[in-house]
Amino acid sequence: MPARETTFKCLKCGHEYKGMYDPDNITERTCPKCRSNSVRRLPPAKPVGK
Ligand SMILES: [Zn+2]
Repeated sequence: MPARETTFKCLKCGHEYKGMYDPDNITERTCPKCRSNSVRRLPPAKPVGK
């Protein structure tokens, strides 16, 4: 599976950012703003393709 761009949201400061999510290589995510590791992956905002 290729890595895909995913939106992450920090639960601590609410910062949202985009990053690459690779299901084969899951690493611990850290908020770039507050360095908290309480980051959740958000579902895609829009369905892709038709
Ligand atoms: Zn944060």
